[in-house]
Amino acid sequence: MSRQRILVIEDDSDIANVLRLDLTDAGFEVEHANSAMSGLIKAREDHPDLILLDLGLPDFDGGDVVQRLRKNSIVPVIVLTARDTIEERVRLLGLGADDYIIKPFHPDELLARIKVQLRQHGSETLTLGELQLDAQKRLVNFKGEELRLSPKEFDILSLLIRQPGRVYSRQEIGQEIWQGRLPEGSNVVDVHMANLRAKLRDHEGYGLLRTVRGVGYSLRSA
Ligand code: CA
Repeated sequence: MSRQRILVIEDDSDIANVLRLDLTDAGFEVEHANSAMSGLIKAREDHPDLILLDLGLPDFDGGDVVQRLRKNSIVPVIVLTARDTIEERVRLLGLGADDYIIKPFHPDELLARIKVQLRQHGSETLTLGELQLDAQKRLVNFKGEELRLSPKEFDILSLLIRQPGRVYSRQEIGQEIWQGRLPEGSNVVDVHMANLRAKLRDHEGYGLLRTVRGVGYSLRSA
């Protein structure tokens, strides 16, 4: 299981350092940005699993940052704020923040809130050997490189990777991925499997996707 990544957007370097230590200890990978602009760029480029956002940043107000983030991302955002008024909380949540925590806060409370958000957003990375699949971002990595899959290829892989070694019949795959809407005798499943296998082979993933003749398909379990 790869570590989940948290982007901390905070201009106070003391607070940022403490957060980095606490979050790293808790098993997260931490990225830091010290301004709104660099935070927005990192958010777009690095696809963090969650963002901790300070409200008082040197370039823009944190509220503007939330609003900009929300234009193209559903990443969970927890706001760190010293301004504790009802109006402020309502404003932040209205802009699209998922939660907020009042400074100064206890690290345990912050961690608890982070976990709630990650759980609610279903951020989930599935790993099988050198294959990693991020269910939320719909990204697949194999041997450290992104595997470019079609939506259906992705769905098939994410079905198979949940139970490595289990053999899925064509009918089962047709049922799960196409909700049984494939016509009788259709070879669509086989075509997608062939494409998926070719893409794995391009990255030297030989033998990873197995065909069990007359039965179906599975991902090698080890
Ligand atoms: Ca600040």
